[in-house]
Amino acid sequence: MALHTRLQRCGFALASRTRVFCGYRPAPVRPLSEQASGKPAPSAPSSDILTDHLIYTHEHLALKEALRKIIEQEINPYVDEWEAQGIFPAHKVFKILGNAGFLGVNKPVGIRTKAVRRGDEFIISGGKMWTTNGTQADWMCLLANTSEGPPHKNKSLICLPMNLPGIHIARSISKMGMWASDTAEVFFDDVRVPCSNVIGQEGMGFTYQMLQFQEERLWAVANIMTTMDTIIQETVDYTKQRKVFGRPVLSHQAVHFRLAELQTEVELLRSLFYRAVALYMKGNDVTKLASMAKLKGGRLARELSDSCLQFWGGMGFTSDVLVSRFYRDSRLMSIGAGADEVMLGIICKYMDTLPKK
Ligand SMILES: Cc1cc2nc3c(=O)[nH]c(=O)nc-3n(C[C@H](O)[C@H](O)[C@H](O)COP(=O)(O)OP(=O)(O)OC[C@H]3O[C@@H](n4cnc5c(N)ncnc54)[C@H](O)[C@@H]3O)c2cc1C
Repeated sequence: MALHTRLQRCGFALASRTRVFCGYRPAPVRPLSEQASGKPAPSAPSSDILTDHLIYTHEHLALKEALRKIIEQEINPYVDEWEAQGIFPAHKVFKILGNAGFLGVNKPVGIRTKAVRRGDEFIISGGKMWTTNGTQADWMCLLANTSEGPPHKNKSLICLPMNLPGIHIARSISKMGMWASDTAEVFFDDVRVPCSNVIGQEGMGFTYQMLQFQEERLWAVANIMTTMDTIIQETVDYTKQRKVFGRPVLSHQAVHFRLAELQTEVELLRSLFYRAVALYMKGNDVTKLASMAKLKGGRLARELSDSCLQFWGGMGFTSDVLVSRFYRDSRLMSIGAGADEVMLGIICKYMDTLPKK
């Protein structure tokens, strides 16, 4: 039986993506590891302060602070090392986050490993090109065709231990960004797994995956906004002290106006994101808003990283500064979890403007 597979991310590129949760660092040309371990500068973006007061409860803030501490102590000091090694220690990092209660916080218990047909087995054959954390994972959440029915009813999510006979990790894919996050190509050669490893209901995999996409796309936006604040602030700090022909680069209207415009765009994205999350938490389908936010987030990240990098001149082209890493890492946002064009297609569907097939 031909099986189409999809790995649902059980985690994310922690090292590359989360280091910037800790706010920005004022000194622009320090080694990245040193910058990462520094305390947030006192001149934090005012948006952060405002949203903290308007939106977050004390519980949210405590959660945020606890996570910030873990990232500062357990992740940021090692990011350069992991970046150079081309991999981060997933077992160690996920264990730390799991022990602290930060993994799977939104997942109800019973969905994960509910059996549908006990005593039987699935035989899996096929392959999966893009498998984040695939070289280190203990198990994967696999979307496979488990029947011959229509595409939205023939798939199931299967919890697949990675040490089963017949699972081959063909290679770790070399990428332009996200170096610390391993991405594996995996093949399945008659892998036998009990049907009890089906997650939730058999045949509901497509529906579960679509629901998960709402969260993954919102997560992608949440993940990138603080980074964008950081990059803007670091660019402000650098261009303030960098003088060209006796004038700080920042004193040029083209520069400070551009940065003001970019910060405005980040705030617009933040508002859309908060609205989508608030509606989602009340149980609404936010596929349209999540797709819009992911689309704009990816496009803004490309625009912002390009503009900011330009203001750093030659320094922006070096590996010593965060902006160059952001430039290559953030490019994925317009591709992963559905490309920009796919987001546009979904939005058109909700606007009822998509031509009928
Ligand atoms: C680093 C990395 C990690 C990943 N990790 C995972 C993972 O852990 N799990 C997982 O399941 N997937 C993962 N992916 C896969 C990722 O979700 C896909 O790459 C992404 O959805 C795009 O699909 P594709 O690569 O097949 O592009 P394709 O489908 O081949 O699309 C190529 C291009 O065609 C254009 N296009 C596509 N559809 C349309 C359309 N309808 N209209 C107009 N133009 C269109 C777009 O410009 C698109 O970029 C990862 C990818 C990368 C690069």
